[in-house]
Amino acid sequence: MIKKEKLKETIGFEVHIELNTKSKMFCGCPANHFGLKPNTHTCPVCLGLPGALPVPNIMAIEWTHMIGLALNCSVNRKSKFDRKHYFYPDLPKSYQISQYDKPFCSNGHLETSLGKVRITRVHLEEDTGKLLHKKVNGKGVTLIDFNRSGVPLVEIVTEPDIVSAEHAKEVAQKIQQLVRHLKVSNCDMEKGSMRLEANISWGVDLNYKVEIKNLNSFRFVKKAIEHELARQKKLLDKNVLPAQETRGWDEVKNKTKGQRRKEVEEDYRYFPEPDIPPMVFDKKYINSLKDKLPELPEEIRMKLINKYKISSDYAKILVSSPKSAKFIEKAIRMAIKEGLNVSEFVNLIVNKKINLTSVDIKSLIKEIKKKKSDKIDDKEKIGKWVNQAISNVPQAVQDYKKGKLNAIGSIIGQVMKLSSGKADPKITRLIIRRKLKGK
Ligand code: ZN
Ligand code: MN
Repeated sequence: MIKKEKLKETIGFEVHIELNTKSKMFCGCPANHFGLKPNTHTCPVCLGLPGALPVPNIMAIEWTHMIGLALNCSVNRKSKFDRKHYFYPDLPKSYQISQYDKPFCSNGHLETSLGKVRITRVHLEEDTGKLLHKKVNGKGVTLIDFNRSGVPLVEIVTEPDIVSAEHAKEVAQKIQQLVRHLKVSNCDMEKGSMRLEANISWGVDLNYKVEIKNLNSFRFVKKAIEHELARQKKLLDKNVLPAQETRGWDEVKNKTKGQRRKEVEEDYRYFPEPDIPPMVFDKKYINSLKDKLPELPEEIRMKLINKYKISSDYAKILVSSPKSAKFIEKAIRMAIKEGLNVSEFVNLIVNKKINLTSVDIKSLIKEIKKKKSDKIDDKEKIGKWVNQAISNVPQAVQDYKKGKLNAIGSIIGQVMKLSSGKADPKITRLIIRRKLKGK
């Protein structure tokens, strides 16, 4: 019998991210593979030809370490590459160079609105080729493009700490934001430079998990997880344990469907990559990476909330793009220096969707100040103009009193005329209303 009261949404992620290094992971071919003529960026190494030897890309290793550090992981002093075996036509060597028991980084966490999500590991591997299903001479064929084969691919694995579909979406977005902030990948889900797999169950004790692949947008992440949790719950309610399997998200039918039995680790016959010696990283190197790490979106967000008293909704918007996150504090500091009110300034940026990267912050602040100093909000002064305006347009006043509320427009217009457009329209409207009510 399955204990129903113990059931709890349990979700973990595996996130694959293609690094935008200049060259591939183990050869000198260009790593960029989008929109190119198939099989033009290849060589014996990334085609898996016999005898070709891999040489690791140092930049890719450094960037993997940076991602790990940004996710609060520890960098493992000793690390190595391993061969992960499986047969598939897009993998010419029949093994992928990956990392097994000594990943570059482990034991981190990501802050979320529902607490910490633990990061199990961050490791580096190579991407596979791409299969293209086409028709040639009227016959359905599968073609292989090896331009993507050997592109550096970082894999981030979380613990099953994610508790809902909405939470999963937040975690995925935060990882994307963080990696983009480090400028090491475009993390473009549509182009496949960020790919998500979710492991879903109703509790770790139940000893099964269902892996969902093909989640290529944040919307699908949410929908697929919602659907899969409900599907499993129905089975569990009938005392049936869901099968351990891999399912794909069908975006047309809006449901997940079974694909294959999930491999277990033993199936991959992992063993150390004999062509690449194990690596050792010293403290000096690790510290130098820590120094290189830019201020992270989460730190900036917390500073906006705690130091500048900005609402958490606005803080979230302001750090959502790496560029905005980079400039917002500088802009706020300049605004304060110029005597502007921080919350007014931030409201303006958020509500008018001002792009801090394409605007000159100095002249933006100047403009705001000028508008402010030009405005007249002295109630006594405005009151005098309102009196004058009321006697100028008696018809409008009568209309207004009869209930034609739109007539207030021409009275405001009069005040604007009398004040050369400087009277604060909000205050003007209030004073007119008050005066016409009183009479
Ligand atoms: Zn190559
Ligand atoms: Mn992988």
